[in-house]
Order: sequence, then C-alpha cells, then structure tokens
Amino acid sequence: MNLMRWAGSAALLLSAGMLANCSQIFGSGEAEGGITTAMLVGADGDSANWISHGRTYSEQRYSPLDAVNRETVGDLGLAWFADMDTARGQEATPLVIDGKLYLTTAWSKVKAFDAATGKPLWEYDPKVPGETAVKACCDVVNRGMAAWGDKLFFGTLDGRLIALDRETGKVAWEKVTVDQSKSYTITGAPRVIDGKVIIGNGGAEFGVRGFVAAYDADDGEQLWKFYTVPEGGDPKDAPAYLQKAAETWNMDVLGANDAIGGGGTVWDSMAYDPELDLLYIGVGNGSPWNRAYRSPGKDGTGEGDNLYLSSIVAIRPSTGEYVWHYQTTPGETWDFTATQHIMLADMDIDGKRRKVLMQAPKNGFFYVIDRETGKFISAKPYVTVNWATGIDPKTGRPIENPETRVDKTGKPALVTPGALGGHNWHPMAYSPSENLVYIPAFEAGMLYAPEADWKPDTARGFNVGFNLGAGDVPADEGFRKQVAGSLKGMLVAWDPVAQKARWTVEHPGPWNGGLLATGGGLVFQGTTGSEFNAYDAATGKKLWSFAAQTGVVAPPVTYTVNGEQYIAVLAGWGGAYALSVDGDLIKRKAPVRNISRLLVFKLGGKATLPPEPALAELPLDPPPSTASPQVIALGQAKYGRYCAVCHAPGAVGSTVLPDLRRAGSLESAQAWAAVVHGGMLKDNGMASFASSLSKEEIEAIRAYVIARANEDKALESGRKIARR
Ligand code: CA
Repeated sequence: MNLMRWAGSAALLLSAGMLANCSQIFGSGEAEGGITTAMLVGADGDSANWISHGRTYSEQRYSPLDAVNRETVGDLGLAWFADMDTARGQEATPLVIDGKLYLTTAWSKVKAFDAATGKPLWEYDPKVPGETAVKACCDVVNRGMAAWGDKLFFGTLDGRLIALDRETGKVAWEKVTVDQSKSYTITGAPRVIDGKVIIGNGGAEFGVRGFVAAYDADDGEQLWKFYTVPEGGDPKDAPAYLQKAAETWNMDVLGANDAIGGGGTVWDSMAYDPELDLLYIGVGNGSPWNRAYRSPGKDGTGEGDNLYLSSIVAIRPSTGEYVWHYQTTPGETWDFTATQHIMLADMDIDGKRRKVLMQAPKNGFFYVIDRETGKFISAKPYVTVNWATGIDPKTGRPIENPETRVDKTGKPALVTPGALGGHNWHPMAYSPSENLVYIPAFEAGMLYAPEADWKPDTARGFNVGFNLGAGDVPADEGFRKQVAGSLKGMLVAWDPVAQKARWTVEHPGPWNGGLLATGGGLVFQGTTGSEFNAYDAATGKKLWSFAAQTGVVAPPVTYTVNGEQYIAVLAGWGGAYALSVDGDLIKRKAPVRNISRLLVFKLGGKATLPPEPALAELPLDPPPSTASPQVIALGQAKYGRYCAVCHAPGAVGSTVLPDLRRAGSLESAQAWAAVVHGGMLKDNGMASFASSLSKEEIEAIRAYVIARANEDKALESGRKIARR
C-alpha cells in the first residue's frame, strides 16, 4: 500500500470534517481485517477508540471526548475495576478497539476485557523467566502494545516481540529481537507504521549497544535494524551516519568489552509524521554512564559528543534510513536519556506556522525542535537545573557547568536533575485549545561520585562507572528530613511558545502518573499520594479526586462504548524511583505501596473498591551487629554496586521489593547465602549473584544490612549510635 496516498486521503477526510469515527468510514475493522494505516493516520477523528500508544501518531494523548467535563466531572464514579495478578510497577497504556480493552502488565502479561462491563475476555502470559528481572534497570514493567490488522504486538522483558490474535489472545508469531546472553530488556510499546512493527529495547545501565528494528507484522521477519551508536574498532564498513558518529567516540575503547557497548537504547518514545514520512525515536544514555570510562580522551577524562546518545533521531520508517538528529546532551555522563515522550504539534511561533517536535528529556530542558529539519527552535528549563545554564540558541548546544562533570577522580557533584531526570517515561499530554503541554515533572538530584578503580562486570549489576553507594543518606533524622524535603513532584502546564509554565500543581512527592487531556477541559493524573485526579486544563484547579489505595504511575485513556464515555487507568506503584530511591525518603513524602488494579470510571459509576488493607510492616528487629568495620565497609561497597538499584540505597528498603533490614534470612548466614548465592528465589525475580559475588562478599553484604538495620532501629527509637 502507498502510505503517502493513504496519509493524504485521511488528512483530506479530516479537513472535510468527515472523519468523526473511523469505524463508520472504514468499517468496524473486525470483518475488514482490522486496523489499517488509514485508521492509524486518522486516529484523531476516532474518539470512540484508543488504537495506538499515544492515541495518535503525533502522541498528543489528547481526546476530544467531552461528556466528562468541568461541569460534570463531579459525577464521575468507578464503573468497574479488575485486580491484576502481579504486584510490581504498572506502566501500561491500554488500547481500546470496538468496545474491548487490551493491556499489558508487569512481567509482560496481556489481558483483554469488555471495555464497558469489565468482563475478562482472555489473557496471555509469555512466561518471562523470573531471573530476567536482574537485567532490568527499572522494575519488570511493560508500557503497552500496538495494533495492526487483527493482531496485537508487544515486547517481553526477555526481549521477545510477540504477535497475538486480537480476538482470541492466541500467539500468531514470536520473535527473539535481542542477544539474550546480554542484558537487553523490552519495556516499551511497539509502534506500527504501514505493516512494520517498530520496537527498541533497554539495557544501557549494563553495557549494551542500542538499536531499534522493524519487523513484518504478518510473520515477524526482520526488515531493518538501526543502531544508535557505532560498533567500535574501524568504522569503514559502517553506514555513513555511523561513520559520522564514530568521529565523536574513542573508537579504541568503544566495544572493547561487553560493558562498553555504548548504550543509546531506544527504550520508550517514538512518534511518526505521516506527511513527512518520518519516524522519530528517542535515544538513551551512554553505557557506562561515566564518559571518562566510555570514551576516554588523552588526559583520562572523557571526550567527544558520543553520537547518537541522548538524541532525537528522525528515520525513514520504510527503510530504517537516517534522516536527521538533534542531540540534547552532547557527551552525556549523567544518564540523561532523550527517550522521554516525543510529541508532535503544529503551532505559530514568531508569526510563522511551524511543524514542531517537543520533548522534556531527563536533562531538565523543554525543547521545541523543527521536525522537518531537526533544527533547534527553543529550550528552557522546566525544573531546577544546575548542569547547564542554558542552551545556546545559535548552536543548540548546552552551556555546561563544568563543576557537574565528574570523571574518574576528583570531587563528587550534586547534580540536578539526577539520573531519574526532571521527567522520566511518564507520558505528557497536550491541549490544543490551551496550547499547553502538561508535564509530569519532579525534582530529585543525585550525587555523582567518581570511582577511580571501576571494573566492568557484565554478569550482574549496573555498569555505570560511578560509585553508586556514595550518595547513601545516613541514619540522621535531621539530614534525612532535609533530603526528603528536596524531593518534589509536580504537574507543570507548559506554554511551548512562551517557554514557561502557565501553572503548576504540587504533589506529595516525585514519580506521579502519566497524563491525559480531554475536550472536556480536563487533565487526568494519578499521584504518588495514591489519588487519581482531574484538573481544570486551563487553571490547574483540582476538580475531582478518587482514592486509588496505591500509587498510580501509568497514563489514563478515554473511550466510548455505545456513546458513553469511560476513563481507564492502570494503578500500581513501581518503576525506577520506587525501586532505586531510599524507601524511607519516599515514605516520608507519602506512604505509598503497590495494589495493581485497572480502574475504569464513567459518569454515575457506582462501583466501590474493597476496603484498603492495612499498611503492615514487619518489625525492625535485626540480630546484633558484630562484624568488623572492614567487613561492613566491603558489604556497603558491594551492596551499592549490586543491590541498591532494586532494594534501595542504604539498605533502607524500597516501596515495592522486600525491605532487607526486615528479612527473615538476615538471622542466618546459610539462609542468606541460599538466596543471594544459591538463587533460591530466582523465579520471583531474585537471581543468583554467584557469578559476581563470592560467598565472603555475600556474607559481608549481610553484615552491612545488619549494621544498617541496627542504625535505623536506633533512629526509630530516637537514639543515634555510631557505627563500630
Ligand atoms: Ca538509563
């Protein structure tokens, strides 16, 4: 099929105001062979359904539906809910097609429901091996699916792309898209363009080389593969765009071992402009993070821009051919991905109609880019930023603060935003009537400490080239209070033309939900405060709130069945912040936990949730700390490298995974070793670390956790004890 012809005809229909509902024009889809290019290109006119990840190829997450609006939202109530069979982070955007709702959950499972009644239709479990969790930087999450023809497509944590029959949930085909001997994972949603399923992957905390690839929707045959960074060595046989990139890397070091694959993973955002026929991908951070190890210069510090890290790259979707790029953070070293939500819109800037691309990447600046050429238009900070003082409008390059660039030695730097960014994967939304972009933003700085003797380990644990244990917050009440106070979460209504916030809503803490904007003048968002809220899109006034019993991080969708408007959101706390940030600091902001559940609302909905279970916590009752300071220090270093990213820094306990200070196995060296060395809990996600940690090191980690537990027990009872 000729994509441009279809795109043109859909645009014509739209402009004629005829495309009120795709299913009226193109048939219901079911009998005709399902989702087509014309339906995807014209998705904006099909308000009944939600057929692609960001609702439209422009990824605006704006629905014109207006039955639920400023005046009626007070009558919004729970229509139905469905409990999920996983208790980890839920980040998915559901799809809704002809009265059926489809979603992915943690552990890459898929479920289908009657979208009006909640009746379960089918479910599919790809049986991801539990120990795959150790390859995932940021929880065992999945952010969604794509639809094409009569199939649904999604990626699994262990790197498979699976096509399911949409009616039955039966597997149509399955393809391994990554080298499974390496720490590649898939958590992002695929997109489909003209029968090609596009999917990337993650793993840049572990050493992988990033790429995005296209597969034939009919049979899973790989059609093209686009690497985001060069392979290392002599680039003479590489495609031209990678030869150009090679000039910005130390090619002797890149790819020299599995820990220095370069990174640049395409783990989340994509957008598509059918008129320009350009696919936009968001490219991630370097691997390892620390450029001094990833691309060292002559003096031992890092050198080079390291293309195409932290870039937005425009690709021809039919061939995978490079068209243009814009790099947000040249020579990135702070985990400043540009994988955050990419959104397309047309707007008047300086008296000219511009086709723009917008992004609020981790680095804290909101960018407006010309999406035809990749030329910089403007950028301003949407949160507190100290790594750069601004973006040079002539070159589009940041004006860096040299104090914040940490190499192999020297002073640590407290950098804001930190590795979690000023905005992470949580989708933004756009209101065309307000011309506002709503950003789920937050502030959480990070201490980047040099690691002079960093050694790669590709078997287990992060490979970032910094000392990850250096930022642990000690058991000191005043200090902990102060750090907790610096953590902020907010909903920012950003004017992309003026490049400033029009209004801001403060939340209890960081890591709030993705967004939906509607024609009813509303913005919907879940919060770390376990609420699901509706705000006035023009003013930010809170108009409605639902007690969700759990943190909500996923973005809502809206749709109609028989003309009645529904709003659905997958609730369930988790993800990078929930796992990798000190759980005591998180809980000081809001006592959040995971109850994984799909919540669906409509006007006059009368369903109620079961009573909220009590927030039970095991007692903090560790054995006495008897190990030597040397053993505890060894345990602290190994904990920081191998344990902290899932069980929280300082062994304080995450808000999702077990608090090790309260673990029963803390009492017994044998029981502890059975888990950490023997892999007894591997099916739950706790892999064996025998390949990376000796029995002595594992026992040292136990000694460290016992020491920390005793410090915190003393803190709880108001005393302070010095570590022996
Ligand atoms: Ca990363």
